[in-house]
Amino acid sequence: MVRTNPNLIKEIKKLGAFDITACYSCGECTAICPLSENNFELPRMMIRYSILGLEDKLLSSPQLWLCYYCGECSESCPRDADPGALMMAARRYAIIKYSLGGIARIFYSKVMSVVSLIILSIIAALGIYLFKKPLDLTKFNPFSLLSYEFIHTAGLVLAAYIAIVALLQGIKMYNCIKHSALEGNLSAGAKVKNLIKSFFIMLFGEVLAERRYLKCDRKNRYIAHMTVFWGFVLMFIATTLDYLKNSNILGLRESYEIIKAINIEIFGVLARIIGIIGGLIGIYGSIYFIYKRLVKDDVYSEYSHVSDWIFLILISLGILTGFLIDIFIYTNMPLLAYVMFAIHLIFVFDLIVTAPFTKFAHLGYRLIAVWFYEYQKLKLSK
Ligand code: SF4
Ligand code: SF4
Repeated sequence: MVRTNPNLIKEIKKLGAFDITACYSCGECTAICPLSENNFELPRMMIRYSILGLEDKLLSSPQLWLCYYCGECSESCPRDADPGALMMAARRYAIIKYSLGGIARIFYSKVMSVVSLIILSIIAALGIYLFKKPLDLTKFNPFSLLSYEFIHTAGLVLAAYIAIVALLQGIKMYNCIKHSALEGNLSAGAKVKNLIKSFFIMLFGEVLAERRYLKCDRKNRYIAHMTVFWGFVLMFIATTLDYLKNSNILGLRESYEIIKAINIEIFGVLARIIGIIGGLIGIYGSIYFIYKRLVKDDVYSEYSHVSDWIFLILISLGILTGFLIDIFIYTNMPLLAYVMFAIHLIFVFDLIVTAPFTKFAHLGYRLIAVWFYEYQKLKLSK
């Protein structure tokens, strides 16, 4: 039996600016949407689910996550119903529903999201204050502020936290979409084959190139989106290399000849180059989106949810403080470099702890959705 939620459209409405009651189902938005296909009418299918209160259908639709909010449907809507904004708000709603205990709701409320960020920042600052060591003021050394053991343990705890929460929420989403995505009378072998094939289509098409986004007309937005994503990837690689260098490759150098032969300084040089490239392209993308949201010269940027602002501000400040650390190191101002390092760690902590519930969560859910969507397409093509 199909369960309905009569308040669905009202609840989604709280998470975005659209006027879907104005919709008279003309289909113009579906005709123009570059992602709409014969069997999957975007965004009209999601509009219908939302208006009819078909919450289970909405949450079990991989199609909800295909859209990057290019805004073409909103521009073409003769009733100014802003269907693109509905898609965005419905994804925020899905993030709340997939989250453990609905905890993501906190990060989509203006007051609660700001309060929770202040609390998280205080926790991070207190942690730094309580575990800080006497500073080496002759030159900047991150392990002079916090010991290697502390950073190593804190990193492991945060990585385990992200992995566990992402896994549990991913399973929750999978349980929602599996019936619609995996149903059908394929043999077990054909299912496995299609799942592997669709996984690689998702990996190379969506993760590496955001192929779907390319279908939209706004190439500047596509480039900015890619730069934010690849900026993060490169900065993550740089942080890992720097960590390996500073930790002497996790202390394995003494035990294995092959690791002893590696010139450890290369890790530091590579980390620097990759980090600077990642930081520059990441800051370009985030400032582009901040600028667009300020000037509001595009339909997609006319309305900004508090979660959009928090995400963009946190990543911009995280990258900028990273650059400032380098500037203070190169200008031989170790004390300022330590202060900036502490502030940088607070922003990074905030980003990591909130990641499974905010815009970062889009990435994980989108990948699962695209994987099963590609699976559905392979199944239908038989
Ligand atoms: S174009 Fe506007 S009015 Fe027409 S179906 Fe889409 S949202 Fe409704
Ligand atoms: S915002 Fe773009 S991709 Fe999303 S439903 Fe509208 S036209 Fe399609």
